[in-house]
Amino acid sequence: MKRYQMYVNGEFISSQSGKWLPVYDPSTEEIIAEVPGADARDVDRAVAAARAAFDAGAWPQTTPLERGRILLRLAGKIRQNAALLANLEARNSGKPIVEAEYDMADTATCFEYYGGLANKIMGHVNPVPDNAVSLSMKEPVGVAGQIIPWNYPLLMAAWKLAPAIAAGCCCVLKPAEQTPLTVLEMAQWLGEVGLPPGVVNIVTGYGETAGAPIVAHSAVDKVAFTGSVAVGKLIMKSASDSLKRVTLELGGKSPNIFFADADFEAAVDGALFGVFINQGEVCSAGSRILVERPIYKKMVETMAEKAKKIRLGPPLERETKMGPLVSKEQCHRVSSYLEVGRREAKVAAGGGRPKGFSRGYYVEPTIFYDVDNRARIAQEEIFGPVAAVIPFDKEDEAIRIANDTPYGLAGAVWTRDIFRAFRVVKALRAGIVWVNHMQPTYVEAPWGGYKQSGFGRELGPWGIEEYLETKQVHINLSEQPIGWY
Ligand code: ADP
Ligand code: MG
Repeated sequence: MKRYQMYVNGEFISSQSGKWLPVYDPSTEEIIAEVPGADARDVDRAVAAARAAFDAGAWPQTTPLERGRILLRLAGKIRQNAALLANLEARNSGKPIVEAEYDMADTATCFEYYGGLANKIMGHVNPVPDNAVSLSMKEPVGVAGQIIPWNYPLLMAAWKLAPAIAAGCCCVLKPAEQTPLTVLEMAQWLGEVGLPPGVVNIVTGYGETAGAPIVAHSAVDKVAFTGSVAVGKLIMKSASDSLKRVTLELGGKSPNIFFADADFEAAVDGALFGVFINQGEVCSAGSRILVERPIYKKMVETMAEKAKKIRLGPPLERETKMGPLVSKEQCHRVSSYLEVGRREAKVAAGGGRPKGFSRGYYVEPTIFYDVDNRARIAQEEIFGPVAAVIPFDKEDEAIRIANDTPYGLAGAVWTRDIFRAFRVVKALRAGIVWVNHMQPTYVEAPWGGYKQSGFGRELGPWGIEEYLETKQVHINLSEQPIGWY
């Protein structure tokens, strides 16, 4: 078992309380590591380091080009060590190794993207009607508190850190208590690639003891959060005391809509991939599958047949297509929804814990059908491999059902009719809409939700905007006095 320390002001340190948190392998239920259990005192120290690096350190004097090169060097480290990182990510989160390898490539790509973008942030000349030059300049927002979830541990760290570093911000990042290991591994390279001490600080601990103090801290300028709606609401309230900038990427109950003219094989694949990838522990999971009546029965049957063959197994076996859920708590949460679902709807596949596993937080890929959109399994985010299949007759009915949720993160529509595809795209109240696919995610394209799925956008040029302030500068070119008084 390895003891990791957290990374503050360029050094690896323990918590001031001396507390340690256990970190598990969810496939064996064994403790594989320990990390410091930070509290408000450790957060103070990290924020002070970030503040000093921003207010008085060398960081604000670096050029955008230098910041970009740092990010490119960090991306290089991730690529060189991808195998090690993917292995650790799979062991700690339970995701299949093949998926973890994709995550590491995406992590490096994210650092590369913002490495390239760092020196392409442009200001503006404002055409004011006077003998003057009016500028709008982009400046870093300051110290960013960043709180991330456990489903894509290192990738979520990259989504937060890369644009912040490119913008010239300093960061205090808290990984989820379940999955702090890969970002702590990455921390060993931060100094080596050229980040001055204090620019990136990583504190580990529980949400209430280590996350909440970051949000409440008066010296933090901005909070970026990805996680549950319940915690998102707490964060917004707490951040209001000091009027921090807030961006939230929260949950979803995303509709995946299938019309009868869609390619049937692709539809079945897309429905399963949309909801079962990463054990369904995906904020944009296509957890409501809306199917047009003419193909409804056949689609449920074919999906069920295929779902039963999805290979559950240890994350590190390359044949594994679905690993265990991340934690005991998550396994209980999902299992209790399976119970609810069995009362609310019919079961086409799964519905419980799989046989043949003496340990590990495994749950069967589960398909409920004949689900009423008012049912709890259609309204509440489950964050596990659980699909709710809902039939529909008409396009406007599909749109009404799709939008009938407090969430608005993502959605997808499958059809060969380009007119219908675009009507549905425009009608869906969601931040991300896929046509004839579900889930592909690119650093070049904006990511974020409508409604209670949060606000603000990550990735692409949108992602860096959230770490920038705009300063208006007026340069008078008239040498005459105003002559007003
Ligand atoms: P889940 O319930 O699936 O773990 P959360 O929204 O609770 O999802 O967790 C996402 C992240 O938010 C984690 O890093 C967690 O530690 C953190 N967190 C949880 N509660 C709070 C809180 N009250 N304040 C700040 N961060 C929190
Ligand atoms: Mg929680």
